[in-house]
Amino acid sequence: MRTQVTIIGSGPAGLLLGQLLTRAGIDNIILDRVSKDYILGRVRAGVLEWGSVGLLDEAGAGTRMHAEGLPHDGYSLAFDGRDHRIDLFGLTGKRVMVYGQTEVTRDLMDAREASGAVTIYDAANVQPHGFDGETPHVTYEKDGVTHRIDCDFIAGCDGFHGVSRKSVPEGAIKTFEKIYPFGWLGVLADIPPVSHELIYANHPRGFALCSMRSETRSRYYVQCPLDDKVEDWSDERFFDELRRRLPAHHAEAMVVGPSFEKSIAPLRSFVAEPMRFGRMFLVGDAAHIVPPTGAKGLNLAASDVHYLFEGLREYYGENSRAGVDAYSERALKRVWKSVRFSWSMTTLMHRFPDTGDFGQKIQEAELDYLTHSAAASTAMAENYVGLPF
Ligand SMILES: Cc1cc2nc3c(=O)[nH]c(=O)nc-3n(C[C@H](O)[C@H](O)[C@H](O)COP(=O)(O)OP(=O)(O)OC[C@H]3O[C@@H](n4cnc5c(N)ncnc54)[C@H](O)[C@@H]3O)c2cc1C
Repeated sequence: MRTQVTIIGSGPAGLLLGQLLTRAGIDNIILDRVSKDYILGRVRAGVLEWGSVGLLDEAGAGTRMHAEGLPHDGYSLAFDGRDHRIDLFGLTGKRVMVYGQTEVTRDLMDAREASGAVTIYDAANVQPHGFDGETPHVTYEKDGVTHRIDCDFIAGCDGFHGVSRKSVPEGAIKTFEKIYPFGWLGVLADIPPVSHELIYANHPRGFALCSMRSETRSRYYVQCPLDDKVEDWSDERFFDELRRRLPAHHAEAMVVGPSFEKSIAPLRSFVAEPMRFGRMFLVGDAAHIVPPTGAKGLNLAASDVHYLFEGLREYYGENSRAGVDAYSERALKRVWKSVRFSWSMTTLMHRFPDTGDFGQKIQEAELDYLTHSAAASTAMAENYVGLPF
């Protein structure tokens, strides 16, 4: 088999890149090691920057998002028992879209199927080869048979645990990592959200987040110890803990109900540099991970796709390598700014082992400054809605 771009990974990064390439007339094949249903069963991100919304429109996959997504003009920082609203639209002229990653993925898969482009699910032992030379190719096994796809470029969109980054020779890649000493326990439940905007809560007992997927489906989180087990957290215990960390009027108004998904996610910041190795590119979580506090993971995957798509379009349309050559540098500049923002929001909102009473007071003073200084609120809002591509 031969194609122009082989994409490893059918998550948001791979699907968005595939769809943009297909619409630009650039042939591509997507390979994923798991099934379509497995991918659609993953519950992950839920907040889209407006730039990501624009990219989904450009990919021809935005119709349902505009009909069913919830545009949000602000969010609340809750601390010291009160709400303090960050007016995203008033401060930046931009908003965000609340629309689940599962739905983004489904819309992109539907658009891809309609276009007739090829996706191979359940592909085992996917392996990129020859990307440091002029004959890149990818091998995989399906139903006991080994296949080979020859191509011009390989896009490694295969997430943090994927094979692409691991295939790069050790000395050619440098990684940067910070592991946080806590996790997020998240539940999904068909109950109306406690507020029509997200609430990020700082509390001496730990961080909490009230998010949503729709007007009838809530996504709630509490910070928890890393060694906690999901089985230790009944719904009753979860909602009691969540309510303790919220201002009283939210705790009293909260509707509770049975959760249908409950999981604990560890938090880390991670960046691999560079993001290009000859004819292979790393895109999205394959190259970087951020803690979810700033809602940046999926959005960073989208901005990487934007830079790579522009580079490939120039390569095929204008016979220029400039965009492809600049991909890693351009993407990393924006990656590090989002890594910084996610780290700073995580540091500000969570209880660390050494926070103590002093650290709590410092966090509250910083939050008070952030929510009452126009300059500081604007800087936070500008980062939250997403820095320009
Ligand atoms: C539990 C969890 C919760 C999250 N919550 C949030 C959140 O609230 N907000 C936020 O912004 N972000 C969140 N994120 C991050 C966000 O989901 C990711 O940033 C986003 O999925 C990145 O997309 P991606 O396409 O780069 O990678 P992925 O979505 O990881 O997609 C990678 C794809 O590659 C495939 N793959 C992996 N290895 C191979 C292989 N060897 N061969 C072939 N295919 C392979 C995988 O099956 C997968 O389909 C969360 C992530 C997790 C894990």
